[in-house]
Amino acid sequence: MPQLPLFALYVVSALVSVAVAGLAWQRRRATPAAPALAATMASLAWWSACWSLAHLPLPLEVQSRATEVGFVGVVGTVASAFCMCRSVADRGWRPGRRTYALLAVEPALALSAVATNDLHRLFVRQWHEGDPAELHTWLGPLFLAHTAYSYSVLAVGLVLLARSWLQAPGVQRRQVSSLLVASVVPIVGNAASLVASHDGRSADHTPLFFTVTGVVAWWALTRQGLMQLVPVARGQVVETMSDAVLVVDAQGLVLDLNPAGRAMLRTLRPHGPVDVVGLPAAEVVSPAVMAPVAGRERRELLEPRPGLHLDLRISLLLDGRGAEAGRVVVTRDVSEEHARHAELAEAHRRLREQLEVIEGLRAELAEEVERDSLTGLHNRRHLERALDAALEGGGPVAVLVVDVDHFKAVNDTHGHPAGDAVLRGLAQDLVEGARAGDTVARWGGEEFVLVLPGAAAAQAVRRGERLRRQCARRVHVLGGTPVRVTASVGVAASPGAGATAAALLDAADRALYAAKAGGRDRVVDAAALVAA
Ligand code: GH3
Ligand code: MG
Ligand code: MG
Repeated sequence: MPQLPLFALYVVSALVSVAVAGLAWQRRRATPAAPALAATMASLAWWSACWSLAHLPLPLEVQSRATEVGFVGVVGTVASAFCMCRSVADRGWRPGRRTYALLAVEPALALSAVATNDLHRLFVRQWHEGDPAELHTWLGPLFLAHTAYSYSVLAVGLVLLARSWLQAPGVQRRQVSSLLVASVVPIVGNAASLVASHDGRSADHTPLFFTVTGVVAWWALTRQGLMQLVPVARGQVVETMSDAVLVVDAQGLVLDLNPAGRAMLRTLRPHGPVDVVGLPAAEVVSPAVMAPVAGRERRELLEPRPGLHLDLRISLLLDGRGAEAGRVVVTRDVSEEHARHAELAEAHRRLREQLEVIEGLRAELAEEVERDSLTGLHNRRHLERALDAALEGGGPVAVLVVDVDHFKAVNDTHGHPAGDAVLRGLAQDLVEGARAGDTVARWGGEEFVLVLPGAAAAQAVRRGERLRRQCARRVHVLGGTPVRVTASVGVAASPGAGATAAALLDAADRALYAAKAGGRDRVVDAAALVAA
């Protein structure tokens, strides 16, 4: 090949390498492999720049020195290309001090051999021959040893890449493919120049090929997102998340399963196949996985065995035309939540039951608070409220106060329990004689009060009269002895006898007192007292 175009090619190679090195360096924080790519390209730039001089008509001495100094770029390229392969293959990897030290051993030896080449000529021998004079190169055993080392290091890097290619899912696999294919270029180029260098005439153009690889790597970095953090982070999330993630293709075959998915499958089907990739998901995982999905997503709750509750989210992956290209199934074990939920529901149910009991007791208690324990009638407190409520209604309200005559004598003659029985009998008569809306209460002792909402005075007097007669008619059998009692009744009706509860009760009380004074066993209307 003519010398000047080759010189130009090396210069372009050096410039491109510098540019790519700069771009990669800018991304050193965002992409783990970028610093290694930057170092590779910087080494290549040096290598190309030095070796470009071999294609200029310069004295042999200058050309030889340039080739030797260019070896710094050679060893740098090999070491940093290895680092790049490693950091693509293992995204968490960063070169440490040990790696730097190990990678520096051979370069140090190789560069020493180059520096002392004039003494031993075992690395490389160069001379001018022909007309016009052309640079000829003979590669010595030390050079070959160095080449063998370089190939070994690069081979390890490529094996790492190839291994990551096997393990990488879809997109990443394509990205690693680009890098693997591009790596072949300098290897083939270098091998070819080694073979062709038998006659010493053909020069080694490896840096040019490496530059191509570097540019492809850079392309993969930017266009294919090879080293971008997002897909890496996503991949890591899927790998480390506790939810099972299953990817199924359009034919329903399992494409991928994360570690959590494999673990879940092992518990679900301990005797099923270990590697399910490529097998029908409906059979090896669950028919639910392939159930029809309306819209983009379907949610399913499964209980594959008692106590195991799974929450499945089946999402469709659509191709460019909106057809189903596959599906992603994210499964979460919700057994714990389920158990907690059931526990909570049970606790809730028990609490509700207890609340019902308490509410019943409370109502009973409230009722009891307003009831008289001996007769079961309402007590004074309830009566006052009922009277207030009746008066608030605005219509006429009548109050009857009923008091047993000479009750003390009943107690004295027949005993207190017998007196109690009389009070209970009388209470029963009062309740039976009451109408809807009336309130019958025990005011205290042997005294009862009735509130008759809507009753005017005359009507109330008639009701009082009827009660009195009924009382007098009843025969109480006390310890085998028949006993009769009578009662006196005071009547007061609003608005004539008063408009407030207190006024009405007071008026009725005075009417009762008048009935007692008048000889007992009678009904007196408060209105009559006022008139008298
Ligand atoms: P009066 O005709 O003037 O009303 O005479 P009385 O004897 O009925 O009236 P007094 O007020 O002198 O006596 C009421 C009696 O009622 C006194 C008390 O021992 C009795 N007594 C009050 N509460 C009860 C009770 O719950 N059970 C019984 N057995 N007796 C009661
Ligand atoms: Mg009495
Ligand atoms: Mg009394």
